[in-house]
Amino acid sequence: MRLSLLRSPLALIFSLLLTAFLSGCDSNQGDSANATSKQPTITVYTSRNEHLVKPLFEQYTAETGVKIRYITDEAGPLIQRLKAEGEATPADMLITVDVGNLWLAASLDLFQPLQSPVLEANIPATLRDPENRWAGLSVRARTIAYATDRVEPAELSTYEALADSSWNGRLCLRTSKKVYNQSLVASMIQSLGQAKAEQVVQGWVENLATAPYSNDNAAMEAVLAGQCDVTIVNTYYYGRLKKANPAAKMALFWPNQADRGVHINVSGAGVTKYAKQPQEAQKFLEWLSSTEAQGQFAEINQEYPANPAVPASAEVRSWGDFKADALNVEAAGRLQGEAVKLMDRAGYF
Ligand code: FE
Repeated sequence: MRLSLLRSPLALIFSLLLTAFLSGCDSNQGDSANATSKQPTITVYTSRNEHLVKPLFEQYTAETGVKIRYITDEAGPLIQRLKAEGEATPADMLITVDVGNLWLAASLDLFQPLQSPVLEANIPATLRDPENRWAGLSVRARTIAYATDRVEPAELSTYEALADSSWNGRLCLRTSKKVYNQSLVASMIQSLGQAKAEQVVQGWVENLATAPYSNDNAAMEAVLAGQCDVTIVNTYYYGRLKKANPAAKMALFWPNQADRGVHINVSGAGVTKYAKQPQEAQKFLEWLSSTEAQGQFAEINQEYPANPAVPASAEVRSWGDFKADALNVEAAGRLQGEAVKLMDRAGYF
């Protein structure tokens, strides 16, 4: 009974895997210039969308001849797939977003620790796993977006202040079920302590103008539609909104500038524990952290390069400078479970 129950999901996973490979996820298809059978092939599982990573995969192949096969999916299914495949996994690398996902993959022992002076030189320690199992490759800030026709920036100060009664009926939030706000609340637990963080989240819930939205775009649309005046979003969603609608009466505000700074998070990657090409995968990860690749890796999604030697794009810089929380982003992953429980207790769904 137990075996047959186990067998079918595993069979499904492996057949899906086979289908994915047979259906041609090879980024090098049709590009035979550098592809010789002598060159190694690395396999990447990525939860970053194809259009964000494919140009970099192609550039790397053009420069080195190393071929890159990839599968894209949501972070959760990719992590479960790696876990189910175990030693049999074809994946050499996992690229994903949010430290919550990177931390989960590391805690499930799906990455191998890397010895890489290159990564240590290119990526600040606060954006890397303290045990060297993953490295951040781009930075996104999770900050306040407000209606410029209804809010004076002087009314804003910190994430915590959005719990004040002056924001009653004026706040919109994305659901707590998604990793971004889990990481934000985890960072607040780390900085403020459990009790204070819970008080703040309760205040947010009391101030909500509407039920939480499924994503950051919907929360910003609600602000633009006048349902609420302020929300909390990842910067690149604001960038997309402004690109589509430059006249949108919305701006970003950088909170907590007098104390810990704005909550930042990363997209990042690690070499899988059972990589068949661990050295090639590490070299590719190091290349992604280089000045050569970082500008494009960040700019393509309007993020900040993780390598401080590389400037953000002019558009991203136009949103203004800010002090970022210097906490190691790993803490947000480590405290994610606590954050989820806290949000449940506070009635934030
Ligand atoms: Fe996102």
